[in-house]
Amino acid sequence: MNYLLKDATVLTMNAKREILPKADVIIRDGRISEIGENLTARPGEFIQRLDLNGRLLMPGLVQAHVHLCQSIFRGQAEDMDLTEWMEERIWPLEAAHSLDTLHASARLGIAELVLGGTTTCLDMGTVHHTEAIFEAAKEVGFRLFCGKSMMDAGKGRPGPMRENTRESLAEAERVKKVWHGSENGRLRYAYAPRYVLSCTEELLVEVVGRARDSGCLLHTHASENTAEIEQVREKHGTDNVAYLYDLGLTGHDVVLAHCVWLTAREMKLLKESETRVAHCPTSNLKLASGVAKLPELIDQQIHLALGSDAAACNNSLDMFQEMRLAALLPKHRSGVKAVPAQKVVELATIGGAEALGVGRDVGSVEVGKKADLIALDLDSPHLRPRHDPYTMLVYSARASDVQHVMIDGDLVVKDRDLIPIDLGVIVEDADKALAKVLRRAEL
Ligand SMILES: [Zn+2]
Repeated sequence: MNYLLKDATVLTMNAKREILPKADVIIRDGRISEIGENLTARPGEFIQRLDLNGRLLMPGLVQAHVHLCQSIFRGQAEDMDLTEWMEERIWPLEAAHSLDTLHASARLGIAELVLGGTTTCLDMGTVHHTEAIFEAAKEVGFRLFCGKSMMDAGKGRPGPMRENTRESLAEAERVKKVWHGSENGRLRYAYAPRYVLSCTEELLVEVVGRARDSGCLLHTHASENTAEIEQVREKHGTDNVAYLYDLGLTGHDVVLAHCVWLTAREMKLLKESETRVAHCPTSNLKLASGVAKLPELIDQQIHLALGSDAAACNNSLDMFQEMRLAALLPKHRSGVKAVPAQKVVELATIGGAEALGVGRDVGSVEVGKKADLIALDLDSPHLRPRHDPYTMLVYSARASDVQHVMIDGDLVVKDRDLIPIDLGVIVEDADKALAKVLRRAEL
């Protein structure tokens, strides 16, 4: 389907960061074909017209760290620190997932993401059944990077999450073979060793080689809380990110979630290696992990993106909340100009896309790019009077302001309705799935 998006204010996020006060956008074959004033269909061309009447049209939001497997665990692990949260609640719950409960959890999470304007995410799956997450993304038409969580070492893992190195690698290969590059390249595999303490060195070294051989991203958690970095020091005699660097698990194709606790040397290593960092401010606050030094990371020109982490530790997947916190938190320590609103919107769009290696395809509204676009309704009282779009997006806008969402040229949300699947079914399936998992986990 080709589309004529009529009369929008376009926040392009192109290199010049142009804002077009009144423009039309034509989408042909999934890509942005024309941007300008008074555009019309070609003679004889069938084109679907969508009147935007001054709505804000901008690139879809990109989240660089999510756990869709935990969407149904929202509210199931409250007021706990990271270790307690993982070992006492989240791992036993993840271990009790089956193919159908994981599918229901992923659909719930993707529905929330898409309705809130997120069009791409990098997801860490659980140990088994990762194909259910890809299946859910396929059904909704979502752009997804995902990999099974790899855990071949460490304490506190319940039975189904204990795997050896060979099994872990074999399962990753099996899922990658089926899904990597499928759905017009919209679904991609990303190797996801969970974190240093749950992986053997043998596994970490092996996945680096395999990811580079197959052009897949590498995704892991790093330096999230102080207990974790202490244990990494005890086990390996070095700091967490320094250890990853020594193994080759840094680089332009590596996304490290969190990086709250970094030494000056580790910041340099991240910069030199062009490693990507996914900043997850809400999750870091809720698990009392700490506050990442965003102004310093920006000053060091480290490639950054944002993520909401998981519904079990956030408890929302609303990217607007992450943008707001990313901008507000540093002010307390570094002053009012610490992180400008425009910078935060960059991290949520083109910066996120570049972090995931798809900046040439998505992340901005430019001719030739794939049509991953969102339109925001600006008529609600909390968005008026109209003002600078960057500060409006960061400080005032909400996920519920997103009215239309297009991914890969397909309209997946129209007038706040999810088109591909009935939302009532998704919500009902999620409730049933949680009941099943709780019964199985005996929690
Ligand atoms: Zn995480």
